[in-house]
Amino acid sequence: MKNSDNIPYKIYLSEEEMPKTWYNVRADMKTKPAPLLNPGTGKPMGFDDLRPVFCDELIRQELNDTDREIPIPVEIRNFYKMYRPSPLVRAYCLEEKLGTPAKIYYKFEGNNTSGSHKLNSAIAQAYYAKQQGLKGVTTETGAGQWGTALSMACSYFDLDCKVFMVKCSYEQKPFRREVMRTYGASVTPSPSETTSVGRAILKEHPGTTGSLGCAISEAVEVATSNPGYRYVLGSVLNQVLLHQSVIGVETKTALDKYGVTPDIIIGCAGGGSNLGGLISPFMGEKLRGEKDYRIIAVEPASCPSFTRGKFAYDFCDTGKVCPLSKMYTLGSNFIPSANHAGGLRYHGMSTTLSQLYHDGYIEACSVEQTKVFEAATQFARVEGILPAPESSHAIRVAIDEALKCRETGEEKTIVFGLTGTGYFDMVAYEKYNNGEMSDYIPTDEELEASFATLPKVEG
Ligand SMILES: *Cc1c(COP(=O)(O)O)cnc(C)c1O
Repeated sequence: MKNSDNIPYKIYLSEEEMPKTWYNVRADMKTKPAPLLNPGTGKPMGFDDLRPVFCDELIRQELNDTDREIPIPVEIRNFYKMYRPSPLVRAYCLEEKLGTPAKIYYKFEGNNTSGSHKLNSAIAQAYYAKQQGLKGVTTETGAGQWGTALSMACSYFDLDCKVFMVKCSYEQKPFRREVMRTYGASVTPSPSETTSVGRAILKEHPGTTGSLGCAISEAVEVATSNPGYRYVLGSVLNQVLLHQSVIGVETKTALDKYGVTPDIIIGCAGGGSNLGGLISPFMGEKLRGEKDYRIIAVEPASCPSFTRGKFAYDFCDTGKVCPLSKMYTLGSNFIPSANHAGGLRYHGMSTTLSQLYHDGYIEACSVEQTKVFEAATQFARVEGILPAPESSHAIRVAIDEALKCRETGEEKTIVFGLTGTGYFDMVAYEKYNNGEMSDYIPTDEELEASFATLPKVEG
């Protein structure tokens, strides 16, 4: 087994070495991400406009484009210690199997019950809600990882947690639902009869199995109509990228300990939170002109926001109750094909990452799901971890880059984010194993039809 570099299989940090601050990459950006706009007036939304929906401190973080380092409260750091630091793994076994001179590392965020990185932000959001004296929070969940993470965080701080779960997931993933209920959350299949927006949708589309956009609209309605409740979101927002920077800061500290500098950093991109978090301190160096890294966002070919989307203001939800956000988007009524198994289904993208991509600091590529599951299977068999389909998008591109190094003989250092485990995705793995998985790529006509519904906003 090759480990001639004297780098351990797993680089851990001591509690002392764990981050005490989050890294706010917006402070380093010359062109700041565009502000959220009020969908009614088209005006930028300030602190007071956002207060009915979001927690106060989280709004301050959302709007903070200037402070590079934001202290992590000790209560959150203590919770992080239950499952962090997450290991930075040197993928010696994968390197050997691929026969590549590349050095591959992955940051593994699946070592907690929710099975993904989402807990890093869930605990922060629950903490600030508790601090504000709120009774509880509402949210939506699609595949279920975010709802699970939030229910864990809320039970820790003794907050009520109301989750609207897209109806088809609610029915197809009963075990995810039960994990959330075990942590004390109430889980309602969406659309439901419990909200006026849910009743309206059910009346118009009887028998619908729901969508993320609809579940968001229901969660926002419940938050704004119940005193002591706010709405929280698991990706896309600046505050979520900020909390997820704990991934990147730990990664950088671990690499620095061994004097390793990555050439390529790769992450999957749904709403952009894990990638934004992983790259934040590295992107800071790149933006300040101190270092250069290749940074690659990987998205599904069936939901290609960066590679085929438009950079424009759009609605964040189908019910059009949320602020407008300037981002790479496929249009808020774009729904990925039903045969798309691997998460990452959101029509838009983080405004921060969108601006960085627009300004040329990030590359993006899209991959087809059969290729993603091929990489997932290869990885599981040599590195042992059964990866989430979302994470496997990053694995695909890390393997492809390592294979290029085999051709050229270059010893590049590749770091990728392994965001979670795939135990609740075995129906998708079953399809792949049975040879029943197909790829769907939307046509230009479908995308044009969706772009035609973008709101007309200057910006
Ligand atoms: C939610 C999720 C993602 C995608 O979300 P981002 O906000 O783009 O990071 C990726 N991997 C896993 C395991 C997830 O649960």
